[in-house]
Parts: sequence; structure tokens; C-alpha cells
Amino acid sequence: MAKVVKAVRGMNDILPGEAYQWHFFEQTVQDWLAMYGYRCIRTPLVEHTDLFVRSIGEVTDIVEKEMYSFVDHLNNDRLALRPEGTAACVRAVIEHNLLYAGPQRLSYSGPMFRHERPQKGRYRQFHQVGVEALGYSGPDIDAELIVMCARLWQMLGITGLRLEIGTLGSAESRALHRTRLIKYFEQYAKHLDEDANRRLHTNPLRILDSKNPEMQPIIEQAPKLIDDLDEPSRIHFEMLQLLLREQGVQFEINLRLVRGLDYYNRTVFEWVTDKLGAQSAVCAGGRYDGLIEQIGGKPAPACGFAMGVERLLVLMHECGKEIEPLLPDAYIVHQGEQATSFAWKTAEFLRETGCRVILHCGGGSFKSQMKKADASGARYAIIIGDDEASAGEVTLKPMRLAADQARVDLHALSDLIKT
Ligand code: ATP
Ligand code: MG
Repeated sequence: MAKVVKAVRGMNDILPGEAYQWHFFEQTVQDWLAMYGYRCIRTPLVEHTDLFVRSIGEVTDIVEKEMYSFVDHLNNDRLALRPEGTAACVRAVIEHNLLYAGPQRLSYSGPMFRHERPQKGRYRQFHQVGVEALGYSGPDIDAELIVMCARLWQMLGITGLRLEIGTLGSAESRALHRTRLIKYFEQYAKHLDEDANRRLHTNPLRILDSKNPEMQPIIEQAPKLIDDLDEPSRIHFEMLQLLLREQGVQFEINLRLVRGLDYYNRTVFEWVTDKLGAQSAVCAGGRYDGLIEQIGGKPAPACGFAMGVERLLVLMHECGKEIEPLLPDAYIVHQGEQATSFAWKTAEFLRETGCRVILHCGGGSFKSQMKKADASGARYAIIIGDDEASAGEVTLKPMRLAADQARVDLHALSDLIKT
């Protein structure tokens, strides 16, 4: 036998037995985005590597170790599978000059790729829904993004998420903070791990994000950005908190929130759960006022977030949200030449009226066909023999109710099925 080819590690198939949960999620997300006036944008899965290096930042986990970057040997382009959606969305907005028409509320969804160690809730191909508000500078849009998240959790039946918010200040206050951080961490260079030492002079803010327990005491005592915060950023942060309180959204302030990408400033936030073990972040985002200019666009402020679909689906399950698959209304069993031809006619007639119908294919006895009808989960079996066919009728048998079967014509049939 030929050797079996398997899926790539960390990249999952979504089988029919779980696909309907994805459909429910996607449909809910579509409804939710429409409620807030966010329009869909679709960008390619592959972009120039340079786009991600310049936006996410050279000295970040994603760019240093997680990005699927490769040379397209057909023309020597350096390309990458997108590890996140914001950079591509911003690239498209610049390329098509969308901000010319005014600020844009946009969203995207689809697979992202990161070469991480696969484990529960962490995959190499995973899915995100992202929301970006471009051209808006005020804390009102930051608040809108957070408030809309809260509504989505409610629509999905997810409870118990904690919201953490923080601020990174302006580029200037970050620069000041950066100098202070470098000075501080230099005193402890001997106690820093390899990653931290490498980042000490390039990206010291990222050291704060380290998960190394041995470094936590040093990180705890590090200078806090809030003390270096510029006045407009402080006011922005205050206003955001005010708006969230007004909307009844609870939050915790986490001044250590750094985020794994370089492009954020001012507001950052994360929705976290205790129900998924180490993989606790389900949605994260913030403001990125400098990014559009950084990748060649006319300067414009922006803010957005992305959520991890796999983690949210598990969480929905953990929260007891049951989603029923969409089952067929009827399964048609048939035997005999005339019966089969009438069975086709019946199936198309019912579909015309909006019914979900499975027409048995492949022959077999009535008994074996009835077993398939039962296994399909259909509410009704429609039985057609030549006897029924010559009368222009069918036998309708309820599969889930203790009701009798009945001989009916096609018009009565569609009425019965739809009630
Ligand atoms: P983490 O700290 O878990 O690595 P992150 O900060 O790298 O997350 P973001 O880049 O902010 O994640 O992406 C937003 C969301 O996408 C995360 O909150 C998470 O729910 C999801 N996500 C990120 N990486 C993965 C992955 N490898 N597999 C599954 N979901 C992921
Ligand atoms: Mg990560």
C-alpha cells in the first residue's frame, strides 16, 4: 500500500461533525459586525515578508521565530504566510486609498500561520476574526471596539471573560520609558535570560512580556510606563475608562500589558479566561496610530483587535453553549423505476419550497434505506414505491414523533413538512 500522507503538524482539518459550530460562530459574527457597521475586507493569505517585518517588528516572537517565510523560487520574491491580519488590512487600505473616502470600519477573518509548538489552543494554522477602525483618533472608537466585544461574548453564550486594559502612551513617552527600562535592566543583565539579553537594547519593552518565572521579580520592580506617560495619552486613557464605565463594561487595569507586536501605542487590551489553561488570551488589540505611516501611507490613527476562533469555540463549549447542527427535513427512500423518477421530482419540488432534503442514492432494500434515513437525523422519511408513484403520492413517516405515517400528495407534503 502507498504511504499515507498526513496533514501538516499543527494544521487541523475541520470535519463535518464540528463544521456546523464554525458556521454558527461565523454567522453570529456576521450579524454582530453588521450591528456595528463594520464592513468585510479580504486580503491574500500570502504577503511580502517585508510587510510583516516592518509592521510587527523585527525583534518580536512572530517575526523572529514564528513566521512561515520563504522564497518564491519562481521569481525570487521573499513571501510569508500571514501570521496576523492587521498588517495586510492596512496594506490594502493604503494600496486602494480607502481612507480618501473617510474613516473606515473594517473586519476580516480567516486562517493565520505561526510556527509555534502545537498544543491545545495553539496551532500553526489557526483562525482569527479581526476588526480594524482606521482614521479614528479618539477614545470613543477604542471604547466601541471593547463594547462590541462584550456584546459578541453575550451573543456566543460566553461568560466569565476578564478584560484587561492598559496604555503604552505616545511614541515619545515610550522612547523615554525605553531609556529608563534599558538603564534598569542593565543593572540585572546577569539575571536576564538569553532572549531578554538579546532584546535589552533593541526592544526592552518586550522583556516585560517574558513568561520566564525566574525573571518575574526583576520585571515586577521595573519602571512603569504610567510614570512616563505624556499628558494627552493619560487623558485618552482616562476617557476610555470613563466610557467603559458608562457602558457597564468591567475592566482591570494592567500596566504590564505589552502585546506581542511592536506597532501598538496608547490603548491596549486583552480578553482573558481562566478556562483554557495556559492559552488564556482569546482576544487582543489596541491602538496603532503610527502603523499606517510606517508602512508608507499618509499618517492616520487606527485601532483594532483580533480574536482566536479555536479558543472561542472551546470556550463556548465550556460555557455550556450547545449548538444544534442543521438537520435535513426529509430523507426520501424509493424503489422501482417509476418510483425513482418520482422521488427525484419530489426532492426538487420540496427544495423549491425551501426544504432540506436528502434523496437516497445507491439503491438497496427499503429496510436498509430506512436505516440511512434514521441515521441522517431527518424529521421525516418519505417513502416512494411504484404504488405511490403511480398515484402521484408519497408515504410520509415521522421519524422523531410517535405519529402515524400518512399517504399524501406533493402539496400536502410540503405543508406538512414545513409545519
Ligand atoms: P499568545 O499570548 O497566546 O501567544 P498572542 O499575543 O500571540 O497570543 P495575538 O497575536 O494577539 O496573540 O492574536 C490574537 C488572538 O489569536 C489570541 O488572543 C489568541 O486567541 C489567538 N491566537 C494567537 N496565536 C494562536 C495560535 N498559535 N493558535 C491558536 N490561536 C492563536
Ligand atoms: Mg503568541
